[in-house]
Amino acid sequence: MNSKHLNDLMSFLDDSPCNFYAVKSISERLDNAGFTRLDRRDAWNLVKGGKYYTTQNDSSIFAFVVGEGPVEKGFKIIAAHSDSPGFRIKPNAEMISDGNILKLNTEVYGGPILYTWFDRPLSIAGRVILKSDDPLNPKTRLVKIDRPILTIPHLAIHFNRAVNEGNPLSKQKDMLPVIAKLNDIAEKDNFVLNLVAKELGVDPKEIIDFDLSLFDTTKACTVGADNEFLTSGRIDDLEMAHAAVTSLIESKQGEMTRIAAIFDNEETGSGTKQGACSPVFTNILRRINDCVGGTGETYLRAVASSFMISADNAHGVHPNYVEKQDPTNHPVLGGGPVVKINANCKYMTDAESSAIFKTICERAGVPCQFFVNHSDVAGGSTLGNKLTSQIEIRGVDMGAAQWAMHSARECASVADVDYTIAAFTEFFNV
Ligand code: ZN
Repeated sequence: MNSKHLNDLMSFLDDSPCNFYAVKSISERLDNAGFTRLDRRDAWNLVKGGKYYTTQNDSSIFAFVVGEGPVEKGFKIIAAHSDSPGFRIKPNAEMISDGNILKLNTEVYGGPILYTWFDRPLSIAGRVILKSDDPLNPKTRLVKIDRPILTIPHLAIHFNRAVNEGNPLSKQKDMLPVIAKLNDIAEKDNFVLNLVAKELGVDPKEIIDFDLSLFDTTKACTVGADNEFLTSGRIDDLEMAHAAVTSLIESKQGEMTRIAAIFDNEETGSGTKQGACSPVFTNILRRINDCVGGTGETYLRAVASSFMISADNAHGVHPNYVEKQDPTNHPVLGGGPVVKINANCKYMTDAESSAIFKTICERAGVPCQFFVNHSDVAGGSTLGNKLTSQIEIRGVDMGAAQWAMHSARECASVADVDYTIAAFTEFFNV
């Protein structure tokens, strides 16, 4: 199966083992496309037609192209998220077991499917904070160990014959990864810190703290007799983050300001300074308005004319569990973007915004489908309704259909990669 953007998406997934690296990979793409990096602490000198991006906490990123028209023409926004469920390494993580086996104490981030993390070649990625002369502004370095160094070994079936009849797991007992067999028990002290310091080529005493996650080192690949499917970690939501940024880069100049907004911490409810519940994004919109000569009124007029696509992957109908899906709406892998609808407004989609998105898909020659919850199943929510608590904007919740959401390795459709980017590019171009 041919796809224009598949290889680029697979490189992006492999280069982005955690939120910080997703933002780094996006920054590099934007740099290559001629975007200028802005620091939120500096004064911004924006020009119409200019391409810019800024980050928050190194884990959210906001890229925009200032519209050529009057600022009150408004904003076209595509939002997605940079984070994925998994495991974070706790402070003082080292725990020693019989035979000097060293394991690490971890904490679950978000809602991973725990047993998909067993028996995989894992490694560590994230950021470390280093000493500097200014206590309020320590230095940050990203670190990614590009080889498998950990695994979470499953208990043998001989110790639990009922394992295949449903096996409750303890996050604290069952899920701790093994990292080493030590020669000397004294090597246990600051093992993680020393490992990371060596990787970065810095003195361990320079490291004050860290945000480190586990990731599966297995690369993205296609499966299916004709390579119809994509399998990788973190497809939710890096597939949409990649589509948002790619379409921003590939779209044409226009009157409205075009924005790709990639937020962190969606998986834990978006309640951080870099998440969709914080004012970080609306402050950027106001700032764009102010920097091109807008007023308080032009900002409100711009918001009233704006439209947002909240892009977070959707549940495709699972071939083994058709009954889990709504009886009459079966979004399928390869069937194009999925519009998400909820009567209790967990999604921002309404008839008008759905109609707008469907029209865009039609113009792009892309099929489009619907997701609604089976009425006996409580569904999730995503970025859209979090953002509407900050800004009264029209918009639609959508995503590409995928299987195994929140597994260590998820599965989506190759055809939907280009469908989504075509629809997003059309949205920016209309
Ligand atoms: Zn998601």
